[in-house]
Amino acid sequence: MASLEPLDSEYDVIVVGGALSGAATATLLLRQNPGIRVLIVEKSEKFGRKVGEATVEVSGYFLGRTLGLMQYLNEKHLCKQGLRFWFANERVESIDQASEIGPRYLARLPSYQVDRAELDEEVLRRAVDAGAVLLRPATVSSIRLNSGGMQEVEVKTGEGRRELRARWVVDASGLASLLARKEGWWKSNNDHPTASAWARWRNVKDWDGRELIDKFPEWAAAHCGTRGTATNHVIGDGWWSWWIPLKGGDVSVGVVFDQRLVNFPQEGSVGDRLRAFLECHPVAKELLEHAEYVSEDVHWRRNLAYQSEVFAGDGFALVGDAAAFMDPFYSPGMDWISFTAFRTADLITRQRAGEDGAMLAEKHNEDFKLSLTRWFDALYRDKYHYLGEYDLLDLAFQMDLGFYYWGVVREVFAHQDRGFLTAPFTHPAAGPVAAIMRIYNRRFAAIAARRRRLGQLGRMNDRQRHLIPGFTPAPGEIKKMIPLFFAWARLELAEGWKSWGREAGEPIKQEELTAP
Ligand SMILES: Cc1cc2nc3c(=O)[nH]c(=O)nc-3n(C[C@H](O)[C@H](O)[C@H](O)COP(=O)(O)OP(=O)(O)OC[C@H]3O[C@@H](n4cnc5c(N)ncnc54)[C@H](O)[C@@H]3O)c2cc1C
Repeated sequence: MASLEPLDSEYDVIVVGGALSGAATATLLLRQNPGIRVLIVEKSEKFGRKVGEATVEVSGYFLGRTLGLMQYLNEKHLCKQGLRFWFANERVESIDQASEIGPRYLARLPSYQVDRAELDEEVLRRAVDAGAVLLRPATVSSIRLNSGGMQEVEVKTGEGRRELRARWVVDASGLASLLARKEGWWKSNNDHPTASAWARWRNVKDWDGRELIDKFPEWAAAHCGTRGTATNHVIGDGWWSWWIPLKGGDVSVGVVFDQRLVNFPQEGSVGDRLRAFLECHPVAKELLEHAEYVSEDVHWRRNLAYQSEVFAGDGFALVGDAAAFMDPFYSPGMDWISFTAFRTADLITRQRAGEDGAMLAEKHNEDFKLSLTRWFDALYRDKYHYLGEYDLLDLAFQMDLGFYYWGVVREVFAHQDRGFLTAPFTHPAAGPVAAIMRIYNRRFAAIAARRRRLGQLGRMNDRQRHLIPGFTPAPGEIKKMIPLFFAWARLELAEGWKSWGREAGEPIKQEELTAP
C-alpha cells in the first residue's frame, strides 16, 4: 500500500511509523483539521504479527467507536471474553485441579483479540483514505527539532535520501523510540526488570473443545461461558503467560517474568526454551500437548519497561511505544496508545487554532509524567512477587478491575471520545485512588515475600475456583468494592500483620527475592 500522491517537501505533520499509534493519530488529526497535510512514513513494506493482540475495555472503545472499527473488528477478529487466570502447586496434576479465576459470564463491554498484522494494515489504510500521504517503505533516519519552527526530517527510500520539513513531527516509531533515544530522554525502568519470550502456535488445544470436555467433564461444566476466547493467563511464581487466540486458529502464547525471581532456561532455541518453561505448569502442558510453535515467529525481549522523560514540545509529540512501555499484564498497551494518540491530536489541533504551543506541551508533559508514575506505583511495582498466589491475585485483580472501571472505563463511556483527554490517574480524584492501590499492591507483595521466605507459596493454588460477576461502568458499581476492602482487612488480621515491618512503600529487600 502506498499513496499515489507525489511527495511534497513540506507538510503540517509528519508521522514517523504507520502502525496503530501513528495511523490512529493521523486519522484523528485529519478528522479534526480538514485540509491538514499529514505524511506518514512507514519503514516496513507490510506489517507482520506482533504482540499487543488483546484489547481491554478502553482500547476496545477507542478502536471500535473512536476509530469507527466496530463492524470490522466483529467481522475480522475475535470478541474477547475477559481475563482468566490459572494457578498450580505441587498437588496439581491436571487442568481440573488447577485453581481458576475468571468472569462468571460473557463480557458486558466490547473488547477484542486482534491480529495486529491485519488490524494495523486496516487502520493505516483508513488513514490514507481519510487523506494522509503514505511513504512506504521508507525510514526516517534523522529528525532535527526546532522549537516553534519547522522540524527537519531526513527520509531514506529505495530511491535515496530526502529532506522534508513539517511544523510538527509525531514520533510513533514504537520500541525504536526515535526521538527519545536521540534526544537522551529515553530511560529504562530498572525498578521493573521484566523480560518476555513469545511465539504464535498451531494446534493448541481448544479450551472449550470436545477433547477437554470428555477428559474433564466436571471442569468443563463448572463454567457456562467460553474460556477459549478470554485472555487466559497461566501463572507461576514471578511469571505469567498469555494465551490469546487469533482468528483462524493460531494462538499467541508468551511468558513475561521478573528477572529477579525467575531463572528462564538458558540452553536451546528460544522456542524450545519457551516450551520447556511452560510445560512445567500442568495447565500449559495439557494445552500444548499437540502444539508446535511457528519457528519463524518466535521472539525474545529483555527489560521491557522504559519511558521518555519528555512527551511533547512546540513542534513534536511522542505516541504509543515511542513514548513509554510499562508492563503487558492486564493488556494496557493499546489503552496507552488511545490516550497518547488522542491527546497528541488534540494538542496539535489546539495549537493550530491559536493556543500557545509551549504551554500546551508543558501541560501534556506534566499529565503524562504523572500518569505513568502513578500508574506504575499503583499497579505494577513489585506485582510479580505475588501474582502467582491465587488468593492474593484474586483480591488484587478484583480491586484493580473495580478501580479501572470506576476511574478509567466510566470516564470514557461517560464522556465518549473526550474521556481520552484525561490521562489515567490524572483526574483530580485520582491521587487518593492511586495511593490506596499502591498500598494494597505493596502489602500483597510483602505478604507473598514472607510466604516465599517460609516456603509457603501457592497453598491455595489448587482446587479453588472464583467466577467473578464483574463490573459495569454504572456509577453505583463502586459499592461492589466494599466487601473487597473487608477481605483485605481479614487477610491483614489473619496473616498480613506478620509482614507489617515491611511496610507498603518500602522496597522489597534482596533477601526476600530468593526462595529459602
Ligand atoms: C510482551 C508484550 C505483550 C504485549 N501485549 C499487549 C496486549 O495484549 N495488549 C496491548 O494492548 N498491548 C500489548 N503490548 C503492547 C503493544 O505491543 C504495544 O503497545 C503496541 O504494539 C505499540 O504500538 P505502536 O504503534 O506504538 O508501535 P509499533 O507497533 O511498534 O509500531 C511502530 C512502527 O514504526 C515503524 N518505524 C520504526 N522506526 C521507523 C523509522 N525510523 N522510520 C519509519 N518507520 C519506523 C515500524 O516499522 C512500526 O511499524 C505488549 C507488549 C509486549 C512487549
